[in-house]
Amino acid sequence: MRLLKSVILVAIACLFVAFAARGASAQDKALPPLDHFNLDQLDRSVDPCTNFYQYTCKKWIAANPIPPDEAFWGPDGKLQLWNESVLREVLETASQNDSSRSPVMQKIGDYYASCMDDAGRNAKGIGAIQPELDRINAMQTKAEIAGELARLHQITFSLSGASDSGYRLALFGFSSSQDLDDATKVVAALDQGGLGLPDRDYYFKDDAKSAETRLQYTTYAEKLFGLMGEDAATAGAHAKVVMAMETALAKSSMDIVKRRDPANLDHKLTTQELNALTPSFSWDAYFKPLNPPATVHYLVATPDFFKGVNQLINDESLENWKTYLRWNLVNTSSPQLSDRFVEENFDFYGRKLYGQKELEPLWKRCVRGVDRDLGEALGQAYVERAFGPDAKARMLKLVNELTDSMAEDIQNLDWMSPDTKKQALVKLHGIEDKIGYPNHWRDYSSIAIVRGDHTGNAYRAGAFEFHRQLEKIGKPVDRGEWGMTPPTVNAYYDPQLNTINFPAGILQPPYFEKTMDDAVNLGEIGAVIGHEMTHGFDDEGRKFDATGNLRDWWTAQDGKEFEKRAQCIDDEYSGFEPVPGVKLNGKLTLGENTADNGGTRIAYMAFEKTLTPEQKAAKTGGLTPEQRFFIAYGQSWCGEWTPELIRMLAQTNPHSPNEFRVNGVVSNMPEFQQAFGCKKGQAMVRENACHVW
Ligand SMILES: [Zn+2]
Repeated sequence: MRLLKSVILVAIACLFVAFAARGASAQDKALPPLDHFNLDQLDRSVDPCTNFYQYTCKKWIAANPIPPDEAFWGPDGKLQLWNESVLREVLETASQNDSSRSPVMQKIGDYYASCMDDAGRNAKGIGAIQPELDRINAMQTKAEIAGELARLHQITFSLSGASDSGYRLALFGFSSSQDLDDATKVVAALDQGGLGLPDRDYYFKDDAKSAETRLQYTTYAEKLFGLMGEDAATAGAHAKVVMAMETALAKSSMDIVKRRDPANLDHKLTTQELNALTPSFSWDAYFKPLNPPATVHYLVATPDFFKGVNQLINDESLENWKTYLRWNLVNTSSPQLSDRFVEENFDFYGRKLYGQKELEPLWKRCVRGVDRDLGEALGQAYVERAFGPDAKARMLKLVNELTDSMAEDIQNLDWMSPDTKKQALVKLHGIEDKIGYPNHWRDYSSIAIVRGDHTGNAYRAGAFEFHRQLEKIGKPVDRGEWGMTPPTVNAYYDPQLNTINFPAGILQPPYFEKTMDDAVNLGEIGAVIGHEMTHGFDDEGRKFDATGNLRDWWTAQDGKEFEKRAQCIDDEYSGFEPVPGVKLNGKLTLGENTADNGGTRIAYMAFEKTLTPEQKAAKTGGLTPEQRFFIAYGQSWCGEWTPELIRMLAQTNPHSPNEFRVNGVVSNMPEFQQAFGCKKGQAMVRENACHVW
């Protein structure tokens, strides 16, 4: 689903980088420790006005090095490890082959047991996908490409989500989507895809690092073709074919920054127009085995990309197409196959692209597999263990406080006209909040989970999800659906539903601490709530109205005033250089940075309102409540990424590295400078402070 939203049209805007934070190996069954708000963690030798991130996080980082099976580490990683350890206990019990298990426990237990059986997977080797490879090899004409793609899209639909960008679904993406201009309608949606590297630019950038990555990718492809039984010369030639075909697709792909403007993705095509776009590709042959419901039109995000697909079908031989399809199948499936495939896949994506030293232990990979494929079945057990009605009630109270503050913020803006303010308030009050878990759990009863058939289970779960998405076409929108599973340590705003969503997995320390006061909770989860709300009004979110339609509700002058203030944020973050030679892309990260700045300010406004005069005068550990608010915010963002990961995310991910999520925000805030007595000229006092929301 998260993949779906990033491949098909508009991305949901979330809090963390969009792939799993990875946890350290649990040596025993005891649950690992969680971080809490902790004043002992401050490095009081650092002046908070010089570097607030170092003041709040230097000691944490020194005490918490990135574990070898991680590419980044922070309190979110520790919480994810805690959540996954809870899930591991559930799955170990469920995987006992016991006839008294409920149907839900049977599904998740047998899936987990099959995944954990690495001896079984090693014994099968490439045999696990041989029937799929045989189908591809048996193709006689290029006309069969369409039908084979339909097959591949079904079985690898969920597995492709292992990638961070979603570009890995073979050739292109197909699913359902809310229509951009009428959010009540669900239509068939087509989007670009087909790449194994994280983004189109990886195929062309001419710096030494990019050339090295391309060489490593080609070597990786060569190794996988070798593991499929090809001799070295053939494997080498096939790896070059893959690289050439993906480079052609990358050339036709729309740039990641251009995709931030939903108007660039809004192309409605009739069946005739779709056929005319790709005369060499038969949509009839593709749709026939999938049998999707009738659609009022096709929403084709990137028509130029499909022209490129058509050209590629004409240009490349049948043999090359077979190579491309085999590659997509095996690359996507590798993490589920025998250890040799798993290790090669990790060596390229984990070690080389992410800078992770070691592969995660098997139990953790298997917990994540169940979360990906049967997430709402596993999520029920998590909610029972870790989430209660008291947490939900306190969250609702916080959300209401933040909504009031944001309303006040909008009303007091000196740059927005009364007309636009009125519309902004309608949108704000139209935001629906979802807390913890869905009201109705997804029914997985139609997926056959067979003990001992791990790859088959993953393929059948993928096909289930693919068809579940297609079945939505032509039906009313299901507003109750969630885009993240309950144990996920993340949160998101959905611009087409106008909802903010907080899975139970993030409503834990150090983001949400039941035993702590408002100063701490508003600095932690309050800033997260504010972040998600602000997404409704960032450079992308502001283009949608209260009902989720792509509609310009701004006066031209107000739009200009917004752009001017957003440009300040763009310029600020474009100046940050997280590793030498790698600068942040201010346009790519604009929405997240706007949400960080607006969210923290709104949370602070809500916090000030909760303070009684007695509380305001009281100090804890020598610190005022205002200081504790900012320390709570800073501590929730302590953490480190490997240099390799920073390099990759700086090119592909809309989130800024943690240090800038803290210093980039507080240096814009007079409230912070007042709380810590910072003076003009100090680093945490920006001369041209930015203020959008
Ligand atoms: Zn976000």
